[in-house]
Amino acid sequence: MPHDLPKAYDPTAIEDRWAEYWVRENLFAQPTPETKSETSKGREAPSGPDAQSAFTILLPPPNVTGNLHMGHMFEHAESDILIRWRRMRGDRVLWIPGTDHAGIATQMLVERQVVSEGTTRQQLGREAFVARVWQWRELYGGNILKQMKRLGASVDWQREYFTMDDNLSIAVREAFVRLYEQGLIYRGAYIVNWCPRCQTAISDLEVVYDEHKGHLWEIRYPVLGPAGGSLSGEFITVATTRPETMLGDTAVAIHPEDERYLHLHGKKLRLPLIGREIPIILDDWVSREFGTGAVKVTPAHDPNDFALGQRHHLPSINVMDETALINNEGGAYAGLDRYVARKRIVADLEEQRLLAGVKDHINNIGHCDRCRTVVEPRLSTQWFVKIKPLAEKAIAAVKPDAEGKKAIQFTPEQYEKTYLNWMENIYDWCISRQLWWGHRIPAWHCATCGKITVARVDPTACAHCGSAQITQETDVLDTWFSSGLLPVSVFGWPNFGATNVPQILRAPSIPLPSAEWVGDHEPPQPTNRADFDAFYPTSLLVTGFDILFFWVARMIMLGIWFAQDIPEEDGSPRTLAESVPFREVYIHALVRDANREKMSKTKGNVIDPIEIVKTYGTDAVRFTLASMASPGTDIAFNIARTEGYRAFANKIWNAARFLFQNLEKANEIGVRVSVGTISRSAFLLNEWPTEELWILSRLNRTAHDVSLALDRYRFDDAANLIYQFFWSEFCDWYLEFVKFRLDFNETANKNATGEALATLTYVFESFLRLLSPFMPFISEEIWHSLYDNEPPRKSIALAVYPLYVQPAEFDQITFNSAEAAMQILQRTIIALRARRKELDVDEKSLVNAKITAGTPAAGVIKKHLSIIKKLAKIDDLEIVFFSERERGKFADLAWQSAGPIDLFVEHEKQIDVPAERDRLTKDIAKYEKGLAAAERQLGNEGFLAKAPAHIVEGLKKQEAETRLLLDKARAALEALPPN
Ligand SMILES: [Zn+2]
Ligand SMILES: [Zn+2]
Repeated sequence: MPHDLPKAYDPTAIEDRWAEYWVRENLFAQPTPETKSETSKGREAPSGPDAQSAFTILLPPPNVTGNLHMGHMFEHAESDILIRWRRMRGDRVLWIPGTDHAGIATQMLVERQVVSEGTTRQQLGREAFVARVWQWRELYGGNILKQMKRLGASVDWQREYFTMDDNLSIAVREAFVRLYEQGLIYRGAYIVNWCPRCQTAISDLEVVYDEHKGHLWEIRYPVLGPAGGSLSGEFITVATTRPETMLGDTAVAIHPEDERYLHLHGKKLRLPLIGREIPIILDDWVSREFGTGAVKVTPAHDPNDFALGQRHHLPSINVMDETALINNEGGAYAGLDRYVARKRIVADLEEQRLLAGVKDHINNIGHCDRCRTVVEPRLSTQWFVKIKPLAEKAIAAVKPDAEGKKAIQFTPEQYEKTYLNWMENIYDWCISRQLWWGHRIPAWHCATCGKITVARVDPTACAHCGSAQITQETDVLDTWFSSGLLPVSVFGWPNFGATNVPQILRAPSIPLPSAEWVGDHEPPQPTNRADFDAFYPTSLLVTGFDILFFWVARMIMLGIWFAQDIPEEDGSPRTLAESVPFREVYIHALVRDANREKMSKTKGNVIDPIEIVKTYGTDAVRFTLASMASPGTDIAFNIARTEGYRAFANKIWNAARFLFQNLEKANEIGVRVSVGTISRSAFLLNEWPTEELWILSRLNRTAHDVSLALDRYRFDDAANLIYQFFWSEFCDWYLEFVKFRLDFNETANKNATGEALATLTYVFESFLRLLSPFMPFISEEIWHSLYDNEPPRKSIALAVYPLYVQPAEFDQITFNSAEAAMQILQRTIIALRARRKELDVDEKSLVNAKITAGTPAAGVIKKHLSIIKKLAKIDDLEIVFFSERERGKFADLAWQSAGPIDLFVEHEKQIDVPAERDRLTKDIAKYEKGLAAAERQLGNEGFLAKAPAHIVEGLKKQEAETRLLLDKARAALEALPPN
């Protein structure tokens, strides 16, 4: 049988199949455009058949270690809806997927695995360990992309990348070398956030702060006498939350005008426990009001102290090793863990009567975002990007230019301020990490002259003295350095498809670079820029707030910096607006649980998207997310809504089956309907049935409003419009009306049936296309079936999205009057049904009714008498026109536009008096019992004192309702005629 659909809608049965089909057929691949005229960049819709506007989204690359969570699914659903909608509108759409090598996260994971096998990363050695990580990645990495495939994300899988791919690694190296040559990369000693577990520097953004109950220890430092060496008997008291850092103190600072200490200017102190002589220094930075006004200075373990140390040329003494054990600088405490040392130091100070006091103190303690270890500010030698020149351009890109245009637009707009505030107060970016997994820094240290050689291709000799005694830097680059380059590197920068590219940074299992590249210091020559020219700048970035600084800001800085040097196709210099990595940034909201709580593993309220997809289907989950998504509003994810949208999908399925059955019946009597065309003459528009004109007009308006909503990222409005159109207009009214014209009897007018069925098919097919970006699976399944598996395109996703068509002026009048007429009919039918219900008329019984109405309502009703009678179950319907003078009697404003209507439904109910008496007597007994129980409880003082207010309120309400029911039942009993 053609138009075959199983009886029951089962999402799992159809979704796997289509997901697999989309990938296998490469339906969403976007080839490199061949000629320039094929693409015009910008936000406008295509203006002609030749001009296709590119719409490009770069997927925020998930960590290679990651699994899909609700936040991803939400982000991907929003992106996919926009991408599918744009594709169907005819844009040249490209959505690029990939994964991030995630330096710390991946290294930690494999480290744990190695430890569980009884060995360690250090025992394995760098090369073997990195090989293990590659192996892990081959076997388990990128699970999230597999999940995305199953969920039908319409990305171009042929362009999938990994941030450690050869071509992307070349981009990383080129960027590093170029910044170094431009004097924007330097190496220096600096206080960094050090994770003693990961044994690497981490960025400020990777430190999470928690409040902890701790202590503030007050320590007395003895003042030395004028002769030096001997104690004066006086003390200065300093306070600290980390007493172990005192081992590295090199001064105590006071405010120069602090009167308490004027007599101590120029004096020295003896550092307790260590015995080192340290100076008292004067600095305006010290707050006189805070504590004792004297501050211990540990330049190697505190960022503020480091700055003080720089100003006063103090030595920096690092007292801890990479694992936060006290090192040899710590004297007697050497070899102790920092917290063990803390206890000992406090005890020893107390014993020496140098502990002035201990106070409770709430500390804001920084933890490593990856492993939760307490971060130690620590002095170490790192690589930095001098960021100001890059930040200046990144600021200019977001601020309005002379014409008031912004090169990058943020939605919601509030994030623009957050971004600018961060960018304007930016610090140099520490880009080195003491890890093994990542892009190794392309710098070589010379053992002979001590200088550094930075090179595009691995050098064999020092560039300064020619010595062969060079060794490569052991640090790797911050993961965000490579992901910040993605907008240019995914399109082939810097070599744009050149073949003379050295192979660098590879898995050790892959052959190492061949000798011929050694010594080549020239960047590869560009050969193919078509992708870059077509798709850069990308159109939109859809991402979460959590990576605004990590990633979005870095992409803007690096994207502009490197793209600005790439001239336009015609050779002219590239403007700022054309250098930015994307024209718009849409920051999506968070998905919270049904009670608006943030999902977290510790709270146990995490919803696994894969699990609920198994139960309700991807389509229903996507629709749930879309129906609640609007800029700046968090989503309270509620399974009940997903159940509702599962029912919505089911209703669509059943409507399709209804349509298919009718197409079959039509086929049997020789009526052929071709999908996608209306078989009525447009010249006779005003003779078309009202419901057809109405549904076509509603479809047209819905198409208009949905596109408008998506343009504004109002996914919620768009989804709700589609839902309303189908449920309330298509099913509740149009189908109900049209059913009566689908007549397949021998005596039927075949032509009329065919015409009605053709319009029904046309509207339903259009609805499927309207729905497709939101529910891609069910729409695909039904669409193929509707075309008997020979659809005009390989996928509904490649069909054209229903677009608003402005009707001709005269036609518009016809459509408007059809909409007005339909409104009158809907109101009349609803009112008649309501009246029947009030009179308690049996659902199947026919009744007589009389309608008094003015113009134009009476005319419309008269014209549609037969359908009203069918839908409201009326036997005889009398219509009485009333005059304008009577209008005033009808105050109901809702009827004003259509003209007032008065309804009268004749109904005399036949009842079985003894049975009714029986029923009412039973009801009365039941109500009396309930009432007595409620009164008893409300009279109980003990209960009232203890019960929560809402329980008492509920009980009172229940009591009042029961009383009302009781009164009604008693009255009804009294009104019954005698037997
Ligand atoms: Zn860590
Ligand atoms: Zn040298």
